[in-house]
Amino acid sequence: MSKFSDFNFKGRKALVRVDFNVPLNDKYEITDDTRMKASVPTILKILNDGGSVILMSHLGRPKEGPSEKYSLKHLLVHLRKLLQGATVLFAPDCIGNDAVQMAASLQPGEILLLENLRFYQEEEKGDTGFAKKLAVLADVYVNDAFGTAHRAHASTAVIAQFFPKEKRMFGMLMENEVASAEKVLHHSEKPFTAIIGGAKVSDKILILENLLGKATDIIIGGGMAYTFIKAMGGKIGKSLCEEDRVKIAADLMKKAEEKKVSIHLPSDSIIADKFDANARTSDAPSYNIPAEWSGLDIGPNACGQFANVILRSKTILWNGPMGVFEMPVFQHGTKCVAEAVAEATQKGAFSLVGGGDSVAAINQFGFSKKVSYVSTGGGAMLEFFEGKTLPGIAAIQS
Ligand code: AMP
Repeated sequence: MSKFSDFNFKGRKALVRVDFNVPLNDKYEITDDTRMKASVPTILKILNDGGSVILMSHLGRPKEGPSEKYSLKHLLVHLRKLLQGATVLFAPDCIGNDAVQMAASLQPGEILLLENLRFYQEEEKGDTGFAKKLAVLADVYVNDAFGTAHRAHASTAVIAQFFPKEKRMFGMLMENEVASAEKVLHHSEKPFTAIIGGAKVSDKILILENLLGKATDIIIGGGMAYTFIKAMGGKIGKSLCEEDRVKIAADLMKKAEEKKVSIHLPSDSIIADKFDANARTSDAPSYNIPAEWSGLDIGPNACGQFANVILRSKTILWNGPMGVFEMPVFQHGTKCVAEAVAEATQKGAFSLVGGGDSVAAINQFGFSKKVSYVSTGGGAMLEFFEGKTLPGIAAIQS
């Protein structure tokens, strides 16, 4: 692989896999352009070098071929705006004669946006023939779509084989994502604290197991904490609990003890008499929640307990909220953790935040600029920290 920043794109046509899977409203207006913005530096570097860019992406989950709803043409106007008025052409089919001709006549400084890759089922199937039809459009392949790096799709992984090693590379976004994730997982300065929250233990078991060999401290919050508290003999009332995971939670606690990893569970919780923003609430020890009540956020003592651990950390990984942060009454715990992560970062820690809900929370509370890195890839990041090889990364590196 080549290093993107060292590569001179002058006179080159670069086929760039981006993640433009942005949310659109009923009028096909983009409601959150974070993913598009994230790819701008990569595109501009190629254009500034004197190259041309062919952009390919998926949008949504089209089931049966082309459809208006999932057309990437809805992104054209905004893309031109983000790229400061650059010429952006649109190919109504991502492969075929027209796409080939449009790509061939593309001039340096120009951009061609291809129609949704997933209008072909071959994309998700990782079809080699389809990948080859995309590959003929350009002479350099750049993968800048970290959000789909855990998928072995035609455009994210299979396509790389059609480019010689020196003409395939990560884009700037992908490079940053991979470097940040590797820094945390493989080169962390200790103490290394992982903060894992969210609803389900089942979604986070693999990441927890993998982190047992890496982190010095693991903070467990959110709904998943109660399965652990039950495993430790606590009374959790009607809090979220995965009965079939209680044993696994107990085993994880035991393994952590053997490996000398400290697991921190919330000492108290904000409990509610129903799952509702207007519920009656109270603070209770997490190990003694009344029968009809459920823990929907970590309590004030737990906030202090977790902040202490976070503030003495040199490396921090955060995935998953501490409570039902979507409702203002249950967002205090997530906010406290965000504050502590920001403060630790200011004191010199490296902090990586990833996963849909923790990113949404950190944006909502205005802390995104106060952490070291906010990952754009939810599923991809989770799989990376589970210790899996991501096809999109491996295809470029191998
Ligand atoms: P996940 O997708 O697994 O990261 O979970 C995120 C979701 O977990 C959010 O929608 C939160 O509202 C929810 N959540 C966090 N804490 C709790 C809790 N104590 N009880 C129920 N749901 C929770």
